[in-house]
Amino acid sequence: MAYKNFTVETDADGIALVTWDMPDKSMNVFTAEVMDEIDKIVDAVVADAAIKGAVFTSGKSSFSGGADLSMIRGMFSMVEEERAKDPANAVKKLFDGAGRMSWLWRKIETCGKPWVSAINGTCMGGAFELSLACHGRVASNAKSVKLALPEVKVGIFPGAGGTQRVPRLANTQDALQMMTTGQTLTPQRAKAMNLVHQVVEPDQLIPAARQMIKDGLKPVAPWDEKGFKAPGGGIWTPASAQLWPAAPAVLRRETSGNYPAALAILKCVYEGLQVPFDTGLRIEQRYFTEIVQTTEAFSMIRSLFISMQELNKGARRPAGQPKSEIKKVGVVGAGFMGASIAYVTAAAGIPVVLIDRDQEAADKGLGVSQKLVSEAVGKGKLSKDEGEKLVGLITPTSDYAALAAADLVIEAVFEDRDVKKAVMEKVEAVLPEGAIFASNTSTLPITGLAKNSKRPVDFIGIHFFSPVEKMMLTEVILGKQTGDKALAVALDYVAAIRKTPIVVNDTRGFFVNRCVLRYMAESYDMLIEGVPPVMIENAAKFAGMPVGPLSLNDEVAIDLSYKILKATVADLGENSVDPRHMELVARMVEKEQRFGRKNGKGFYDYPAKPAKKSLWPGLKDFYPQKQAQEVDVKVLQQRFLVTIALEAARTVEEGIVTDPREADVGSILGFGFAPYTGGALSYIDGMGVKAFVALCEKLAGQYGPHFAPTPLLKDMAGKGETFYGRFDPYGQARVAA
Ligand code: NAD
Repeated sequence: MAYKNFTVETDADGIALVTWDMPDKSMNVFTAEVMDEIDKIVDAVVADAAIKGAVFTSGKSSFSGGADLSMIRGMFSMVEEERAKDPANAVKKLFDGAGRMSWLWRKIETCGKPWVSAINGTCMGGAFELSLACHGRVASNAKSVKLALPEVKVGIFPGAGGTQRVPRLANTQDALQMMTTGQTLTPQRAKAMNLVHQVVEPDQLIPAARQMIKDGLKPVAPWDEKGFKAPGGGIWTPASAQLWPAAPAVLRRETSGNYPAALAILKCVYEGLQVPFDTGLRIEQRYFTEIVQTTEAFSMIRSLFISMQELNKGARRPAGQPKSEIKKVGVVGAGFMGASIAYVTAAAGIPVVLIDRDQEAADKGLGVSQKLVSEAVGKGKLSKDEGEKLVGLITPTSDYAALAAADLVIEAVFEDRDVKKAVMEKVEAVLPEGAIFASNTSTLPITGLAKNSKRPVDFIGIHFFSPVEKMMLTEVILGKQTGDKALAVALDYVAAIRKTPIVVNDTRGFFVNRCVLRYMAESYDMLIEGVPPVMIENAAKFAGMPVGPLSLNDEVAIDLSYKILKATVADLGENSVDPRHMELVARMVEKEQRFGRKNGKGFYDYPAKPAKKSLWPGLKDFYPQKQAQEVDVKVLQQRFLVTIALEAARTVEEGIVTDPREADVGSILGFGFAPYTGGALSYIDGMGVKAFVALCEKLAGQYGPHFAPTPLLKDMAGKGETFYGRFDPYGQARVAA
């Protein structure tokens, strides 16, 4: 029988090799069609007496990335449609849909013939769950092999048997840790956890899998054997009595109760381990049905899975621009940012010319890459050869003539208009016709800098975040005259260095920094009100922010905040900055000499390692302190999220951000906006614009007019609109925008 996505070849020993290789995709993913074909293949293997067992593998360099976007989208539209028609039936349909994969994997497990999964590359989500349902698992030891059940990162959980099989193979604590964090495992770690049986050289993968069957692999899962006991003995053991009472508390410490899917994993494991396996699968199916209907799951899947993939694949790339081949990149300014930009570019295999004022400064920039490479080699992430090749791609020099063959030049010199102007003139004098020039400025509007350019059409902003090698986001900024080619090249470059781009129109602070400044400003307000600093930091974390605002301010540098406040006053006048904020920051910088982490003194003290940083006690003397019981932590949490979401809404209202996907993804990747909300605009859509406006009005009454809802929000509330409805990223309206 022929299949579209699989080939099945049976060898002389009666072992069927089932190779998954989707013809029209670069990576194997689960679609309804794939599931139907697997179902048929299982039937065919069982029906054919000549087949003794089957090996399941992939014909691509990776095994499978898990579910397909279209399948997930289909699931949500089905729920919505059914809810509108017949709410009770919607849940039933969802329950059945949620169980489709789970019971198909169970069918493989109980089909009576042995199955071995031969894992040759990335094996994620449903694909790992499929492997766990096979009776044997062999993984290649290639560096590309990564195994994970990462569903919790997009608001759901492993619902195709993962929560039942993992804790029946691995010890409970490891199982919980792996699934509640979505952690990625190397094959070696997976073997140590008892999740794969063998780890072999890549060329031994299929022979080893076949051998398992030839050696008489029993087609029965351990939990289907009489007398099976989970590792550690299950729930009713002294070890479990230690683990389980603490588990919800540990989870709460890590997630502040913001992630219903993570809690559901705990429930599935705890309840599932007390019942027979099939009942455990039903429990998992029920929780999955519940979780998939939460606002968190909907919003996280939309932003962190669907939108992120769409942006990575060039959703905002202008039509009609051919894909640019970036053969050489120039980076001017080999300082803190430029040196790291050179590193990530070379890491993508692109040759880089790294320029600074003199050879010594340029060499110092190269030194950053040498250090990063030697760390990566030390951790086994790069081989020595790969590391040498990477460093060899970077040419440090002070000679601008070396830029003559560059397709793209990124400037990361001092944040000073005159310095940038002089550099632009030098670069444009040698840059070939058609090449693109980008600035990494963080505060200077692109349109203003473009005034110095001879070719403003080819000038654009590519704003990186620090640390460049870790931060996934880049903001691409369009000046008034920036042309389509510049945008296309910028986006192709961002894709090449495997970061996620958001495209924003020019404004002071662009998108990310505007929002971040609101976050920090709200913490200044709280300090001034006398809220104890520790409550400010904790409230932000309870709200789901990864870093408290005072800690973040220390990382950014308080003297930089001071500079930004002063520049804002110089450009926009006295009233543009709250004088109490200016006073607070000026006191920190001028009087206390506390600049942040960089001088070991900021809102926190930074003692020598291994001691940990702690809030600076002197901060409490700035303002009369409130008692803890006088402060409502829930309100503090709301203030942080609302002030950022309001700023994001303003950027949409001003036409800075034109696509809600970018505000959402940008807010999560740029500054960690509470990921469970799906991002700053999904936070508003999730509670409903009407409720958000009411909340803003309440906060404005108590904490100041900066909380007042904007005209756009009021209009949307009146009409019952959402951001994704009004600024539909897939609709005609956006194409025109
Ligand atoms: P930096 O001071 O560490 O580096 C600037 C480098 O530019 C120095 O090595 C300097 O020698 C070099 N330089 C100065 N004049 C030059 C010239 N005429 N020709 C060649 N090289 C010259 O500064 P940085 O923090 O890397 O910031 C660089 C740019 O990146 C700024 O525009 C800044 O706003 C922006 N930025 C910084 C951050 C950050 O977190 N630091 C984040 C995003 C963007």
